[in-house]
Amino acid sequence: MIPFNKPYLTGKEAHYIYQAVYSGKISGNGIYTQKCQKYFEDTYGFEKVLLTTSCTDALEMAAILCDIKSGDEVIVPSFTFVSTALAFVRQGAKIVFADSKNNSPNIDESSIEALITEKTKAIVPVHYGGVACDMDKIMFIAEKHNLLVIEDAAHSIHSFYKGKALGSIGHFAAFSFHETKNIIAGEGGMLTINDKRFNNRAEIIWEKGTNRAEFFRGEIDKYGWVDIGSSFLPSEIIAAFLWAQIENLNIIQHRRQQIWNQYYFRLKKLAEKGCFTIFDLPQYATNNAHNFYIILNTIEERNTLIEFLKDNNVLAVFHYQSLHESSFYKNKHDGRQLINCKRYSDCLLRLPMFYELSETDQNYIIDLIYNFFKY
Ligand SMILES: *Cc1c(COP(=O)(O)O)cnc(C)c1O
Repeated sequence: MIPFNKPYLTGKEAHYIYQAVYSGKISGNGIYTQKCQKYFEDTYGFEKVLLTTSCTDALEMAAILCDIKSGDEVIVPSFTFVSTALAFVRQGAKIVFADSKNNSPNIDESSIEALITEKTKAIVPVHYGGVACDMDKIMFIAEKHNLLVIEDAAHSIHSFYKGKALGSIGHFAAFSFHETKNIIAGEGGMLTINDKRFNNRAEIIWEKGTNRAEFFRGEIDKYGWVDIGSSFLPSEIIAAFLWAQIENLNIIQHRRQQIWNQYYFRLKKLAEKGCFTIFDLPQYATNNAHNFYIILNTIEERNTLIEFLKDNNVLAVFHYQSLHESSFYKNKHDGRQLINCKRYSDCLLRLPMFYELSETDQNYIIDLIYNFFKY
């Protein structure tokens, strides 16, 4: 069976974990955590980075930092992972779901302004597949209405919008290092803070509501309880694993890009014949090869293709099911139809994409798709 995903190990993970374990400091905010944070700050121009145990945790931190309270509204695309909305729901927010674009699963920025009320506090764009949302437009709307922007950048490591790293544009951004993402730590994530006003409070929330990080740097002589928060910081074991991945980031990205290009190059011909749709990149975005997907013309065809591939030992998978129609949220949704979102839930199909996917296996997958459409 060709799997949909296979976590890639660079070979150094166990070595760095060994070093972390025997260094005598295994809890969070040690040498590896600081190396990872500094690398991301220096490489991508994030104002401040805090590693977290997941992207979900990073989103929860952002929701606390935005001071989201019961009665506030937050604008979130419906075509996304649960956590994008959940983190804000936990703070008591009402989620106002936005539709995707006709030509991209990303949030339709032109639909946002009509959703804003005096209760709106924040917008959470998701860069689907690591391809940027139109951030200039979103930041313009946010500034005009005095809203905070949290980028869900779970897919978006090493991807750019008009030359700026994704995750460096919104007030905050949340990244994931879950084993299904480009670089991994098993479970892991990070919060980026791009507005200095929030730097100090972010560290406090990260460390269970205490000012321990300041104490740790010798800036104060004792630490104590000063705010709300939780234990959002990962242990050094996770950071050590992540460091091995960071060292190989360029190699990983290069290989993923090759795989992505090969899919695109060969499947474009079927797309031109109308078998399915492949979107071109917007001018303002780069592609970090997080995933490769096609949009079939109907749900039936999508599901038949999944079965056909499975019968031939290939695991291809659909993606998000609309959150506004989920059993948890459907009664709370305001009833608006989100037709583009529904189309992506019904018709989108992701093909196997991982570092170790061989050329032979990839060509086998592509040949199967040609067979399916009888070309
Ligand atoms: C994977 C993912 C998350 C959650 O990441 P975790 O690190 O597993 O918490 C959030 N949002 C999106 C868009 C994701 O794909």
